[in-house]
Amino acid sequence: MFSSSTLAYKRWNMKRWPLSRGPLVTLLVAIGLEGFSRLLLDIPSAAPLFLAVAYAAFLGGVQSGLVSAAITIAYTLYAYATPGSFLVYSDNNVIRVLVTIGTSLGMALLVGGLKRRAERDQSEILRIQRYQTLMLQSVSDSIIATDAQFRIQTWNRASEMTYGWSAAEVCGKPINHVLPVVRYLDNIDDEQAKDLILRQSFWNGQVIQTHRDGHEILIEASVRLIHDADGSMVGVVAVNRDVTAQQQERTERARIEERQHFLGQASAVLADSLDYESTINTVTQLAIPHLADWCVIHLIGEDGTLRRPVAAHVNPELIEIIRELQQRNPIELGEDGPITRTLHTGETQLVPVVDHVRMRAVSSDDYHYRMLGELGFNSYMIVPIIAHGRTLGAATFVSGGRSYTAADLEHAQDLMRRCGLAVDNARLYRDAQEAIQTRDQLMLTVTHDLKNPISAIKGYANFLRRRLQRRDTPDAEWLEDGLAKIDTTTTKMTGLLNEMLDFARLQAGQMLDLDQRPTDLSAIVSQTVAEYQQTTERHCIYVAASVAELVGLYDTARLERVLANLLSNAIKYSPDGSEIMVEVRHESKAGACWAVINVQDWGLGIPAADLPHIFDPFRRAGNVRGRVRGTGIGLTIAQRIVELHGGSLTVASVEDEGSTFTIRLPMTALPAEAPPVWWNEALP
Ligand code: ADP
Repeated sequence: MFSSSTLAYKRWNMKRWPLSRGPLVTLLVAIGLEGFSRLLLDIPSAAPLFLAVAYAAFLGGVQSGLVSAAITIAYTLYAYATPGSFLVYSDNNVIRVLVTIGTSLGMALLVGGLKRRAERDQSEILRIQRYQTLMLQSVSDSIIATDAQFRIQTWNRASEMTYGWSAAEVCGKPINHVLPVVRYLDNIDDEQAKDLILRQSFWNGQVIQTHRDGHEILIEASVRLIHDADGSMVGVVAVNRDVTAQQQERTERARIEERQHFLGQASAVLADSLDYESTINTVTQLAIPHLADWCVIHLIGEDGTLRRPVAAHVNPELIEIIRELQQRNPIELGEDGPITRTLHTGETQLVPVVDHVRMRAVSSDDYHYRMLGELGFNSYMIVPIIAHGRTLGAATFVSGGRSYTAADLEHAQDLMRRCGLAVDNARLYRDAQEAIQTRDQLMLTVTHDLKNPISAIKGYANFLRRRLQRRDTPDAEWLEDGLAKIDTTTTKMTGLLNEMLDFARLQAGQMLDLDQRPTDLSAIVSQTVAEYQQTTERHCIYVAASVAELVGLYDTARLERVLANLLSNAIKYSPDGSEIMVEVRHESKAGACWAVINVQDWGLGIPAADLPHIFDPFRRAGNVRGRVRGTGIGLTIAQRIVELHGGSLTVASVEDEGSTFTIRLPMTALPAEAPPVWWNEALP
């Protein structure tokens, strides 16, 4: 493959010394010499000999010319010698011999020399051609040259790599057949491009062309006309570069930068929102239209149920359709579907193209199907919202036009990771706020609970002192009564302080030191019920005991507090005039003997959502918060104390119907059976 410039050099060189014209020159020289020797020297024709010398020099170069000349000279020396004498010549023949010698040698040297020069020129041409070929093959740009009819003449290795066609396949074919332009990036067409090239002799621009395997490539082309010395157009040369990869890289970089920018903004906005609801609203707004045409977020609430989904659409008028579809087809956690699958497993889902079959499959009926079409439903992805390994919810992103790719999914996951942390932060913030409120409430309640008895003690003490100051004879009965009241009140205060102390120890992760000794639970029940019956006139506490005594190794003071807590709650959370039932019995299970105490009321009960967490510290049910004073720590300590004894404290409750708390404690010995006894302290 030679370039046009190589061919031009070759033509010029042949004009200077065309090899084929050698014999012609030789012939002319021979005719000239023939005329010269005949006319001037009267020598018979030696032209055939000179022609032989010239032809030998032409074929074999100087050396073979000299050999031929030597033969000619030897023949002349022999032919012109005086007959009978060796190397003796007449005067005329001496001149002839000398002319023949000179002419033959001259002929050999002239023709041989010219031949050598022609050969040198020829090899120089070949060297230049080889060099240019190597140069063309080693450049990384595709170089294509055509003749004046735009037929391909030059097609280097880079062209083969760029377009997939070999030189042998394309040389001689019209360039626009081999490499049609799919599109000019500066919005011109073939005719306009041709026109520009012919007018200004060059054209630079970017075009989309097709590789042999059919894929499109972006080419940066530089096309120039090739002119002859006389200015006529002999062809076109194009230097083309495949910039598809660079272009893709640039686009990819721009996309990454745009996404980083978006995520940066999203992080800033999310960091600002410490409110749960607004965090989710922010995310849906952020996702549109950057990531989706519409999106829906489902969150799992604290109680393990699904909260009302939050949705956004690029066209706000269509939000109503999404809400209507959600109302018509609410998602249940128990059912099997794409969103619940992500909520249960935390897996991501990407459906690049939703065909009609799939759209039918996710639609509950014709109306749903039509509405999805209205909203735009070409591609979707479902991404879990995860924080600290826990799936908090799922976000569904839907595109009505373009198809989602793995890169989109990665981007959505990035956003949702930030969203998960923001939701978690919002929850933690809310919990912290609630904890602060609860702590304040606890302080208030404890202060209040301590202040009242302290005022009472102070009142009794002042009263007694005044009587003594007035030198009244102390009445033993009222003195004892006053002191007994002070004693009961301080015992209550000690109980409260001990409860606080136990709670503080449990919160600090310390063990409670139980003071276990043989104790009769029946006696504790009777005594505590009696005490609490005295505190209320509006409730009636009944006790049903099927055993005379229930003895075990128990921490008496602490179990008294547990019972006191259950009784005070039963009173606190049930309406005036209602009854409270305490049942004392024993139970044998798998060879072990258990003391069982039930405290039952028919009061407010506990809502189902709060029931599983009711023994958590500071947990107060929704139906009592703000209505009835409390700290939310009594049940936590009670359960812990019972468990430390090897027993259990459980609850069964229905809101607005009532609650039954059950204590089960291990016993040391089987109690003696006794007929059930029902009694009530308040009754005569
Ligand atoms: P407090 O009663 O001081 O709030 P507790 O730890 O004793 O704290 O009880 C925790 C929560 O359990 C209460 O706030 C209340 O919501 C619920 N609760 C406990 N006992 C009863 C009951 N007998 N009836 C209804 N709700 C109860």
